[in-house]
Amino acid sequence: CSFAHFNFDEKLMNVIRKSEFTNPTPIQSQAIPAALSGRDVIGIAQTGSGKTAAFLWPMIVHILDQPVLKTGDGPIGLILAPTRELSQQIYTEAKKFCKVFGISVVCCYGGGSKWEQSKDLEQGTEIVVATPGRMIDLVKIKATNLQRVTFLVLDEADRMFDMGFEPQVRSICNHARPERQTLLFSATFKKRIEKLARDVLSDPIRIVQ
Ligand code: AMP
Repeated sequence: CSFAHFNFDEKLMNVIRKSEFTNPTPIQSQAIPAALSGRDVIGIAQTGSGKTAAFLWPMIVHILDQPVLKTGDGPIGLILAPTRELSQQIYTEAKKFCKVFGISVVCCYGGGSKWEQSKDLEQGTEIVVATPGRMIDLVKIKATNLQRVTFLVLDEADRMFDMGFEPQVRSICNHARPERQTLLFSATFKKRIEKLARDVLSDPIRIVQ
């Protein structure tokens, strides 16, 4: 399919054109219409498949539909990723697409300054990209909260579990809004991820790259 298929806002289309992307990747062609229709999605996809844009673009569309942030509000979109490197990559991609909309993005990872990350969060932000352990720490010290999270992405879920983040991922899912939309991406789909999907997604569409 082509990008025109998604009926994206003209401002978003302009950034996509500037990125010199000519056509959606297979995972984008399938995941984006499902996500735009409000469904939960399981995407079995590797790095390099274009999965980041597949969740970022619907997240932007979702946020544009929400009331503006008030003082003390937490993020609307939350992306969990296993490592500092991946969270920073997602952050860079997110900033590229969010800038024209004035949507703010904050990145929080273990090993970075908790104080600086708290300051960024306290200013208020629509999107947070975070590693699970650091996210929990920041919520515990009340730098932010998960009460407004209605669009949740679990990226590289299998790697998050391999790194021992299962309890943190589950805790974050339990603290986001129950009526949220959830997108889960994983390179593999073994028993533990299948169980997670059953527990935290509702009636998901499953897409294999
Ligand atoms: P990802 O799998 O999300 O890490 O993306 C891999 C790379 O593909 C990144 O450099 C993206 O900027 C790029 N990319 C994403 N979507 C497209 C597309 N539709 N066409 C060409 N490149 C893309």
